[in-house]
Amino acid sequence: MTFKIDLHCHSTASDGTLPPRQLVERAAVHGLAVLSLTDHDTTAGLEEAKSAALPAGIRFIPGIELSTSWNNQCFHVVGLNISADYPPLLKGLELLSATRIARAGRIAEKLAKKGIPGALEAVMDLVGDGMITRTHFAEFLVSGHYAVSQQDAFDRYLAKGKPAYVSTDWTPLDRAVDWISCAGGIAVLAHPMRYKLTAARMKRFLESFKSFGGQAIEVVSGRNNTDEVRIASNYAQRFDLYGSVGSDFHSPGNPWVELGRLETLPSGIKPVWELF
Ligand code: AMP
Ligand code: MN
Ligand code: MN
Ligand code: MN
Repeated sequence: MTFKIDLHCHSTASDGTLPPRQLVERAAVHGLAVLSLTDHDTTAGLEEAKSAALPAGIRFIPGIELSTSWNNQCFHVVGLNISADYPPLLKGLELLSATRIARAGRIAEKLAKKGIPGALEAVMDLVGDGMITRTHFAEFLVSGHYAVSQQDAFDRYLAKGKPAYVSTDWTPLDRAVDWISCAGGIAVLAHPMRYKLTAARMKRFLESFKSFGGQAIEVVSGRNNTDEVRIASNYAQRFDLYGSVGSDFHSPGNPWVELGRLETLPSGIKPVWELF
């Protein structure tokens, strides 16, 4: 791989802090040749990013990161090279948006019970016309001095098992993969090491994912160390999946995650961009 590529990042259309145009400008500064914007459950940032990419000399790949459920667990599936105007996908995103707004109300109620009032209104202000996420709640908790950092906000309130966690039914995995495939895109399992699955459960997941039409797995993901890249590579080879690379960049100032700062895809793994 002689060019820099990043196929997973976020803008203000979901829980990133840079507007799409600034994100693309930053990608150019970091020498990226190919970039995909993959906001949570929304395509709202794609037009702006695409028009910024052209003059910056970056090949732009329209993308998304869908929230899905499989066996009562949430999995993120990145869709790469999608047609953002495919009607069933757009209808599906409306449903996900409603799910996210309803969940936000319940998170706010749980925070209120813990003595933290006014979360929903404050978070809605932060979100603007973007997609509402737990990251916005974390930002609110930090600015209200209820937590010292976003990580602390997740650890104390928002993560699974914590007082403001709300279990949610996302799009069933098969349906989400279908939306992506029918929109002409490639379904990629995002950050596979994040789910802490046993090898047996990962096997069951990947067999289902493949049977639904999933084609790729993020072999190189933002915070992964070399061991994790090796484990993900093994999954790619064992299940005959293409390999993707994505930083999962959300905002500047995080010393561990930067646009395009990624290990190269190990040789022997088929690059997902062969499919673009
Ligand atoms: P949501 O999709 O609304 O549940 O929010 C998930 C987002 O929250 C992820 O994409 C991350 O950006 C962020 N997130 C999830 N878990 C954590 C965590 N433990 N620490 C910091 N950020 C997290
Ligand atoms: Mn996020
Ligand atoms: Mn994710
Ligand atoms: Mn992401």
